[in-house]
Formats: sequence, structure tokens, C-alpha cells
Amino acid sequence: MKLRYNERIYPTPSQQRNLARFFGCARVVYNDGLRARRGAFHSSEPYISDVTLQKMVITAGKKTPQRQWLKEASSVCLVQSLQDLHAAYRNFLASKRGVRHGPKIAPPRMKKKTGRQTLRFTRNGFTLRENGRLFIAKLGDVEVRWSRPLPSDPSSVTIIKDPAGRYFASFVVETDDRPLPELDLDQTETGIDLGLSSYAVLRGRKIASPKFFRRQEKKLRRAQRKLSRAQKGSNNRRKAKLAVAKVHARIADRRRDFIEQETTRIVRESQAVYLEDLNVKGMAKGTRAKSLHDHSLGMFARTLEAKCARYGRGFAKVDRYFPSTQMCSACGSVQGPKGLAGLSTRRWVCCCGSVHDRDENAELNIRREGRRLLAAGHAER
Ligand SMILES: [Zn+2]
Repeated sequence: MKLRYNERIYPTPSQQRNLARFFGCARVVYNDGLRARRGAFHSSEPYISDVTLQKMVITAGKKTPQRQWLKEASSVCLVQSLQDLHAAYRNFLASKRGVRHGPKIAPPRMKKKTGRQTLRFTRNGFTLRENGRLFIAKLGDVEVRWSRPLPSDPSSVTIIKDPAGRYFASFVVETDDRPLPELDLDQTETGIDLGLSSYAVLRGRKIASPKFFRRQEKKLRRAQRKLSRAQKGSNNRRKAKLAVAKVHARIADRRRDFIEQETTRIVRESQAVYLEDLNVKGMAKGTRAKSLHDHSLGMFARTLEAKCARYGRGFAKVDRYFPSTQMCSACGSVQGPKGLAGLSTRRWVCCCGSVHDRDENAELNIRREGRRLLAAGHAER
């Protein structure tokens, strides 16, 4: 399945001038190729092959005084422009021979300068930088405003300038996944309250904390104690070290399985997912050291976000200062259990008379806030 991710980009003024030149070069190459093929057709010469045409129009073209400015553009986008011409010809010829189903296809036409201009780059024409910028040959690093992470490496990117003068990068990401059927948003969207008494509280169900981690945590502590007591350089120390590594590996495997399983189920069941933006570091600063549980919550959140992006599910993060636990979902007053006291209060009664299950009330608040955020995000784009 091919997915498109459109992100706004912000080329600098000099990059914008270069892009204008690139758009022009790609258009000229396309039109030169088309003119050559038409000429051959009218003088009853054989059809010019794709390879020959590329040599004529790009390689030889750059050497002529009329076209030497083609050198200024990234050759990847020039080649791509010709590829688009080849594809247009293939479709036209197949249609003419009757091989292709569907309506008749007209021969390719000259490209004119229009309000919406595009440039396509295949994999060797661009690089995604660690810092999130998009590198394009002969253009440099372009600033991207990412609205969501890409689920995997993009196979191509199209740079678009729209009639309003805005620039976009449209990434094509190919996945083996089949699209999931779209669900009714109202019926299936869910908030997720993470990590108090249960592992996670969802709409209408809870995911229990796996006992496995607590058991392994004990084993790990025992193994680490043994290691710290073993003498340096001794055989026992080597064994103890290996034992610690084994427990770590077992935990990592099980954690991955657990998270894969649970996040897959959530994405299948829900059209949109709203998650509390948890401050794992802040949680750990409290009374206890950062536990295996905390580590796993961070990974759970990241995996879930990536899966939502991959399967086209809505996703929003609710600010961690949003009073999801303390707010009454019936009247909106913020008088519920606070702080550590909240951890031990399972049920509470609001001044309006509503009786709340702490977790279910929090999920509902997160769900409403998440939905508001998601709607606002869409309006902005
Ligand atoms: Zn109330």
C-alpha cells in the first residue's frame, strides 16, 4: 500500500529562487522530449527509445548554449520529468492499441507554467536529515514542519508550490500493510489513561499490568546483586554478567510482544486514539526509581503513535497538565482527587452529585480533549 504524507516546507528566499529555476528546467526537459518524439512521428522516423531520449534531451542538451542552464538543476528531477513523459506515452500507446482498458487516452501535451508546480525526486535525489530537514541536491537543507512522524523510509518526494505560493513536500511511503477499514469515529474513538492501577484504561475496557514485569524485576535485582558481589576478573563475575544480560533480553522480548499485541488491537478497534502526554521522567522523580513499567509506557506511547500514522488512524496527545483525573466529566468542575491521594481513590463523588470511577472518568475527559485537539489540528491544515 502506498501512503502519502504531505508536510509544509519553508525554503529560504534563495532556495525559492532555485526552486523556480528547477520547476522551469523540469518543464523544459519534458517539453523538449515531447517535441523530439512528435518530430520523429511526423517525419515517419522510428519511435525514440526512453534511453536515447534522455541522452538527447538531458545529456546533449546541457552541452548546447540554449540549454546549458539545465546544469543548475538536480539531474534527478530532470530524469524524473522525462520518466513522467515516458509513462504518459506508454499509457497513450497502450490505449491506442486497445491493450489498456478504460476511456481513450489523449497523447501527451506540452506543459505550461501553471499556478501549481511540482517536482518529483526519487530515492537518490533526496535525504532526510537527523535534524528533520530535507536535503535536496543543488538546493540544500530545507526546513520541514512535520505534523507526524513517517512510518518508514519514503520512496519518493514531490515538491509542490501551490497557487497561494506555499510549498509542500509530499512523501510517498510504501508499506506492506493493507489499509484498515474505516470505523465510525463516534463509536470507536478512545482516550487512554496510562499507568496507575491498570496498565492502561481505554473506553469500555482496561489493560491489566502484566505480572511478568514485576516478577522479572525481582529476578533482575537478584542478578544485579550477585554481579556487584562477584570479584572483578573472576569467572563468577563473568557468569553473573551474562545472567543480568539474559534477564534484560527476556524482558525486552516480552515487552515488545506485549506492546505489539496491545497496540495492534487498539488500532484495529479505534478510528482515533487520544493519549495523555506522559512525563515519564517526572513520574520517576517521585518516590520510586524509574521502573521497567515506566520504560514500557514510553515505548507503548511511541509504538501506538507510529501505528496510528501507518494505518491512518487519528491521533492526538493531550497535555500532561490537563486535569484528566480531577475534572468531573459531568459538570466540568475540577474538584476530584489530586496528587498522590488520587492514586488510592478509586471512586469519588463530585459536588454535582455524580459518582465517578476515577479511571473511567479520566478516560472520558481525555477522549473529549483529544477529539477537540484533533479537530483543531485538521482545521489548521
Ligand atoms: Zn460534577
